[in-house]
Amino acid sequence: MRNARVWAGLLGVKEAIFEDVSVEEDEDGDAAAIVVSVRVRRRDGGRCGICRRRGPGYDRGEGRRRWRALDLGTIRSFVEAEAPRVRCGAHGVVVAWVPWARHGARSTRSFDDTAAWLVAHTAKSTLVALLRISWRTVGRIITRVSTEAEASRDGFAGLRRIGIDEISYKRGHRYLTVVVDHDSGRLVWIAIGRDEATLHSFFDRLGAERCLAITLVSADAAAWIANVVAERCPHATICMDPFHVCQWASRALDEVRREVWNAARRNGQRAIAIELKGARFALWKNPEDLTERQQDKLALIEKTNHRLYRAYLLKEQLRQVFQLRGSAGIRLLDHWLAWARRCRIPAFVKVAASITATRSAIDAGLLHQLSNARVESVNTRLRLLTRIAFGFRSAPALIALAMLSLGGLCPPLPGRS
Ligand SMILES: [Zn+2]
Repeated sequence: MRNARVWAGLLGVKEAIFEDVSVEEDEDGDAAAIVVSVRVRRRDGGRCGICRRRGPGYDRGEGRRRWRALDLGTIRSFVEAEAPRVRCGAHGVVVAWVPWARHGARSTRSFDDTAAWLVAHTAKSTLVALLRISWRTVGRIITRVSTEAEASRDGFAGLRRIGIDEISYKRGHRYLTVVVDHDSGRLVWIAIGRDEATLHSFFDRLGAERCLAITLVSADAAAWIANVVAERCPHATICMDPFHVCQWASRALDEVRREVWNAARRNGQRAIAIELKGARFALWKNPEDLTERQQDKLALIEKTNHRLYRAYLLKEQLRQVFQLRGSAGIRLLDHWLAWARRCRIPAFVKVAASITATRSAIDAGLLHQLSNARVESVNTRLRLLTRIAFGFRSAPALIALAMLSLGGLCPPLPGRS
């Protein structure tokens, strides 16, 4: 009996009845795999693998089946058991539920949970080597783990202030809609698509009562966000995300730099062209982060290229607006707009027009002083995850990876909870 418990414990199948253990050898006679045979307890048997409701037995299915378990030391190990099918009133003929593995899994719960924990805590190459599985398999495992965890918790409790954003996850304009909780910095929800229907499905999940509790929504100037928020969250104020406004200015500055650079090249001013090409980062970075070399570059631009330097100052002063925030920020923005409208740099005249068009949301953002640092940090990490998830070739696996890593869905390591 003690032996049985040890074997069951080793493979994480304590809820099953131990039958036998065998060691399979390779051609050299070394142990290649440990196979622990178990059977389901009577009270756990004959249940639908999806909903766990009891149903009449259907057939033996594919007979005995193996589930990959965590290695024992250096040896691969497996749980083996019958996998009969039952007829469920809701789900039809399905493989019966087993306590040691999720439905449809070829590996045990503790194996899957370990993979999910590792995916959120370590590098891809480490995980793949340690568990001896392919990255595509990891994608399937974490999709299962995340879906189950999502269904068993209420991830939307206490939401008041949220940030809604979109990030591209694949070439060819594939986008994800992302919802972040401003107060906890947690990724709350993520889905494929960036349109009104996608966002409506978030508010459907949130439910009418909790939609009423949403007070602030930070977002970019996208109409699809504004429209849906106005319809679903009557008490919410939309705050323009300062990051996006600053991005408009950075893009405008880059446009000016390219114009000046092209003009220099056309006029045969090679030295100036090279200088400007290298100045990209000096213009982009915040002045306090500039290296000495970059400071010199900027000083040179100030002397030799007034137009580009004015564009730089426009970008910088707009950044100041969002550093200052509050009513002082709003006053500075008034000055900035007056300046930008008559600066005769078309790229910035356009930024001024965009700001004027979304002024109320920008002012709300300045007044409510919603710190976007957390939302930005989630977005930065999400961009990294989209690259890591590329090898999954599965959007649901990318979403699972995001929710495990940033949404608080990561299970504890088996045996440590
Ligand atoms: Zn069922």
